[in-house]
Amino acid sequence: MKQKHLVVIGGGAAGFFTAINASAMSPGLKVTILEKSSKLLSKVSVSGGGRCNVTHACFDIEEMIRKYPRGMHFVRKAFHRFFTRDTIAWFLERGVALKTEDDGRMFPVTDTSSTIVECLLKEAALHHVEIVTNAGVSAVEAAAGDGNTGFYLHIAGREKLFADFVCVACGGYPKDARFEWIRALGHTIHSPLPSLFTFNMPGNAVTALMGISVPDAVVKIKGTNLKEQGPLLITHWGMSGPVILRLSAWGAKELSERHYHFEIAVNWLPRYTEHLLRQEWNDLRLQHAARKMHAGNPFALPARLWQYLLDQAGIDKEQRWSSLPGKQQNELMRLLTMQEFEVKGKTTFKEEFVTCGGVALSEVDVHTMQSKKQPGIYFAGEVLDVDGITGGFNFQHAWTSGWIAGRGVGSRG
Ligand SMILES: Cc1cc2nc3c(=O)[nH]c(=O)nc-3n(C[C@H](O)[C@H](O)[C@H](O)COP(=O)(O)OP(=O)(O)OC[C@H]3O[C@@H](n4cnc5c(N)ncnc54)[C@H](O)[C@@H]3O)c2cc1C
Repeated sequence: MKQKHLVVIGGGAAGFFTAINASAMSPGLKVTILEKSSKLLSKVSVSGGGRCNVTHACFDIEEMIRKYPRGMHFVRKAFHRFFTRDTIAWFLERGVALKTEDDGRMFPVTDTSSTIVECLLKEAALHHVEIVTNAGVSAVEAAAGDGNTGFYLHIAGREKLFADFVCVACGGYPKDARFEWIRALGHTIHSPLPSLFTFNMPGNAVTALMGISVPDAVVKIKGTNLKEQGPLLITHWGMSGPVILRLSAWGAKELSERHYHFEIAVNWLPRYTEHLLRQEWNDLRLQHAARKMHAGNPFALPARLWQYLLDQAGIDKEQRWSSLPGKQQNELMRLLTMQEFEVKGKTTFKEEFVTCGGVALSEVDVHTMQSKKQPGIYFAGEVLDVDGITGGFNFQHAWTSGWIAGRGVGSRG
């Protein structure tokens, strides 16, 4: 019987996982990875500051899916087949132990991404996966018309290649036009948008506090249901830190529609609402009565931030707590629990961390990752319209979808 051929487009995390797992399941299958650049697994190498944030120590599927602004229901089904504990076991079985940091992110114990890269390269070699670099696919053409099933892949500067099965694991593209060759297969593409970005506040006085980080703040985007809590960093152009990045991911579509012009309200004291703070305010005044406002900072906020809030409320730093006028007092309580800022623009990281958008999930069978439009075509990784917040969730999706696609093809090889 003729040997079947799987061609995986893309030599990233998802492509390698697909190729390795397909070969492992079906040793008779010929598997080739086509990578357009000269470098394999480049994002695995750079991610997590060169340590590779392989996954997240979350072992509850319902909790895990809440980290995916797009694709939540799709990944729920996929995680029932291959989840975080499977990723940990998969790498461990191949000699790579992972460790968990306090925030739940998991890294190889060696603290270097080269451990993951080497493991994947070794596994691919073990299973005789053929790897071709500098091979960018420009089109995939169904061969059915020639009396065949399968596909011809058009590769820049090379002869076209025949494949019985194709797995598209080309990652996310920042520009819509680059998805054209996938659209030509009959797939709907949700236009890519930046998903992790920081908020610009040009000319805002708060930027003078650049470098200050507040361990816990609540930020709400006004006029939406978007609200997040966590560490906030003030930068020279606006605000950043995990709470802002999470908001940017959840609000990727809504904020794009608003052309990145919107208002946020920051609660610098998440344990208080304005109402609760009012209730406790008299006690605070009594406790600190004799102290000058600038020295009596009862909330342990960074000193420069406290001084800035006093300035914003029009409070003289020599003012004592005992004689604080009602108007300034009200303003300070409001600023502490609901300070408003205008956001005008965003700053994305030099190399976009992750894009939102990609192949519409309704057109992909989550049990096999096979296209519902074009049987024989499979998808894995970031090319799908799935994206997670930071913390290892994007890699987990790459491993999960790669494993399912690999098994899906392997079972037919
Ligand atoms: C700087 C940075 C840091 C990150 N840190 C984290 C993190 O800490 N945790 C986390 O979970 N995620 C992180 N991510 C996201 C994570 O790296 C991606 O979600 C993951 O790599 C996606 O894997 P993939 O295989 O789907 O795509 P990719 O890794 O993008 O691989 C796709 C490959 O396909 C190739 N390709 C594209 N088009 C073609 C074509 N037409 N023909 C042939 N080859 C093609 C590309 O060159 C690329 O090598 C980070 C991303 C970046 C950029």
